Amino acid sequence: MRKRAEKKLKQSDDVNSLFMPTYKRNGSPLICGKGMYLYDEDENVYLDFGAGIAVNALGHGHPAIVNAIRSQSELLIHASNLYLSRAQIDLADALLENSFADHVFFSNSGTEANEAAIKFARKWASSKDKEKFHILSFYNGFHGRTYGALSATAQEQLHEGFEPLVEGFHWSEFNNIKSAKKMLSQHKFAAILVEPIQGEGGIIPATEEFLNFLRNWCTKNKAALIFDEIQTGMGRTGTLWNYQQYDIVPDILTLAKPLGGGIPLGATLCTSAIAKAITPGNHGTTFGGNPVACAAGLATLNVINKKSFLKNIVRMGSYITKKLEQLQKTVTGIKEVRGCGLLIGIEFDSDPTAIVAACKKAGLLLVKAGHNTVRMLPPLIVTKDDIDSAVSILQSVLESEGR
Ligand code: PLP
Repeated sequence: MRKRAEKKLKQSDDVNSLFMPTYKRNGSPLICGKGMYLYDEDENVYLDFGAGIAVNALGHGHPAIVNAIRSQSELLIHASNLYLSRAQIDLADALLENSFADHVFFSNSGTEANEAAIKFARKWASSKDKEKFHILSFYNGFHGRTYGALSATAQEQLHEGFEPLVEGFHWSEFNNIKSAKKMLSQHKFAAILVEPIQGEGGIIPATEEFLNFLRNWCTKNKAALIFDEIQTGMGRTGTLWNYQQYDIVPDILTLAKPLGGGIPLGATLCTSAIAKAITPGNHGTTFGGNPVACAAGLATLNVINKKSFLKNIVRMGSYITKKLEQLQKTVTGIKEVRGCGLLIGIEFDSDPTAIVAACKKAGLLLVKAGHNTVRMLPPLIVTKDDIDSAVSILQSVLESEGR
């Protein structure tokens, strides 16, 4: 057993050795956050344009979330899913009221929301035909790290060393109807799982034509269309759910990230047709739908789900895009600026890992996506002043690199 020093570990100690080496982290530990800003132990201040990878939709320490957590934790922190809880009922009601869905299953993360979606779709489809268990998803997508979600995540570098994956998962080219058609003709499919905008893959929107094809194929072949809106949901793209920007409604919608206002919470929203195939004991969770997470989630949803708030997301999204397009003209190396609402990708002509690191040093947090893209996904409370500051930091970093 390793001997632990009695003293508190400092930054100079190898604090990374405490953890499984799944992340490459450095710098001083974060200690608090307020609004758009994060603060570390060395008194560095960061303008947060990563929002905890799309989690902190209302920034840090938003009073509506803090008060909801405080009040709910005084009432009830956990009781288990053997019993109903008021906080869970209220969030379920609000989610169903504001979506196509008839039923919700709560979990704790995006990967679990997708696991539940895959299980529900398989149970529903296989109740009619035992061979109808295949799942189609798309290259470059991201659906999570557990075995079902990982098997649906068509990125070979994430599979290496973890095979064999789960049987019955197949992948085809994103935004390529011919490639999807070819795969769909080879097996009996229970479901198609798709991100309407590939987030981790580099902020790549699905075309309406592609999503329409998937919708029509699923309807015709009695398969479930699952939209993974774990990154795009809860207002991020300017509507509460991204699917509302198309004339397309999925059968299952998966949510997580901002859903619990920073407390772990996932949700799988389904139509009643799919729910009919599920009986008690088919699926479950100890923590999913925890009352504190649900109270924080409802407080978050109540702030976001207002016309004026959603409209401001679109306005701020256009403002960032305009500023970044101006920047693209003054520096070299930016290939494209794309996105929707406040989910913005800046594609560079090479790996931007060093740019993200230099921005952090200069006080701006950004997140890499795909191979060559930097994501800007600030809290949805972002202002024009915040955007001006962020773009100006990015500009100085790029200029100091001689771009
Ligand atoms: N689906 C999408 C679209 C995601 O972006 C992510 C996380 O990045 C996941 C699923 C997995 O979510 P989690 O990390 O909460 O398990």
